[in-house]
This record gives sequence, C-alpha cells and structure tokens, in this order.
Amino acid sequence: MNIRDEAVLRELNLYPLWVRRDAPVAAVIAPVAAVPVEEEQAVSVVPSGPVQQSSADSPIASLDWSALKQKVHDCTACKLRAGCTQTVFGVGDEQADWLFVGEGPGADEDARGEPFVGQAGKLLDNMLAAIKLKRGDNVYIANIVKCRPPDNRTPEPDEITTCLPYLQNQIALIKPKLIVALGKTAATSLLGRDATLGSLRGTLHEYQGVPLIVTYHPAYLLRSPAEKAKAWQDLRLALHHISNRVDSSF
Ligand code: SF4
Repeated sequence: MNIRDEAVLRELNLYPLWVRRDAPVAAVIAPVAAVPVEEEQAVSVVPSGPVQQSSADSPIASLDWSALKQKVHDCTACKLRAGCTQTVFGVGDEQADWLFVGEGPGADEDARGEPFVGQAGKLLDNMLAAIKLKRGDNVYIANIVKCRPPDNRTPEPDEITTCLPYLQNQIALIKPKLIVALGKTAATSLLGRDATLGSLRGTLHEYQGVPLIVTYHPAYLLRSPAEKAKAWQDLRLALHHISNRVDSSF
C-alpha cells in the first residue's frame, strides 16, 4: 500500500488495517446490528444452494416506483414479515449510477426503515466517501431481503427467492452502471451460484446486463478490520470500471 492509499484510509476511518494483539476485544469488535457470518466461509451453508433467479416476466417486473414501493410495504409473502417492524425498501437516487446491495435489515434498519444505518452504515458511508460518493447522490442502497431476519440470521434461500423480484425491479428501474454486492449473501444471491466471497472478489461479474463487483459487507469489516485493505482494493476496482479514473482521483 502506498502512502496516498494509507492517507485516504486513515482519513476515512478505514485505517488501521492491522489490529494490535493486545487491543481489548471490545475495542476491536464493534457492536453491529446485522453481522454476516464469516465472509470467506463456503456458501454451502448460507444459503444452502443456488438461489433461484426470478423470472423477468414476474408480475412485479412491470411495476413502476410507486406501485413497487406499495407492493413491498404491503408484502407478507414470506415468513420474515411476521417478525419485523416494517419493510425496508431501499434509499437513494433512483437514477443512480451506483447500486450497493447488502443482505437484509438489522435492528437499526428495522426501526428506522432505512438500509445501512448504525455502525455498519457509518462504515459504508466512509467507504462511499473514499471513492468520492455519498448516500443519496448518484448512489442507491438496497438489500436482498426487505424484512429483518430474526436474530439477524442470514436469510434462507426460500426467503431470498421470494423477495428477489423486488430488487430485480429496482435494478431495472434504476439502470445503474455498476452494482456493488456487499457480502457473500448479496453476491451469491445475485449471481445465483455457490462460491466463497474470496473467489468472487477481484472480478467483474454481470447481473441483468449490469457490471457487478463483490466486496465485504461493512458489518464484517467492523469485525475483521484486517480485511479493510481488500475492501479498499475492491472499491478501487469498482471506481476503475465505472469511470476509468482511479489513478487520477486520489
Ligand atoms: Fe415480502 Fe421480502 Fe418481506 Fe419476505 S422479506 S415479506 S418477500 S418484503
């Protein structure tokens, strides 16, 4: 890592990348609402198999923004709705070039009705700032499932399959230039195949014709700060692919 990268990471609270061995555990592990399982773990357990991709001719696919928001608001199509306070649709610029997709709402998101608030949200905001972006400005943020899973567990394959048409329609309406999948669940749900997060990083994928890159979920980075360097690489890759200007931007 060069001095310029280090300075950017430090300024945006993505630094230090290494944690002292004698650091108190409480100082290293921040309390976060939704904490994905170990990101490098094989997806054979979470989810247990490829998530079924929804049909483009689903009735949901034809809804406009207003109808889609209402549909999600009223949705009780899977068991997650029974245990959450409200659905969390997504937030941001509805014509954004950048779409960031996480796993599902945690406790803070469930209470506020907005994705990525709380500690993980603050880190996501820092990650956005690192590539000169900010929430709501050419950025849209959404999750794979719109309702909080109980005890912040990973959404189950049937829940993902049921909810995914909403995100698919959001993508069709936004028409982003790049999707950034935050964490293993988002990545494997969108790509429809089992893989470790590590094997999916560093490559330009495609979803519904939109370029897609994979990086770590901010909640995981809060627990594993040593991985921030890799997340920074992913952000640089994203920026390179969307604007081809990474070398002149920092
Ligand atoms: Fe509906 Fe999605 Fe909520 Fe399930 S998670 S009830 S499919 S909005």
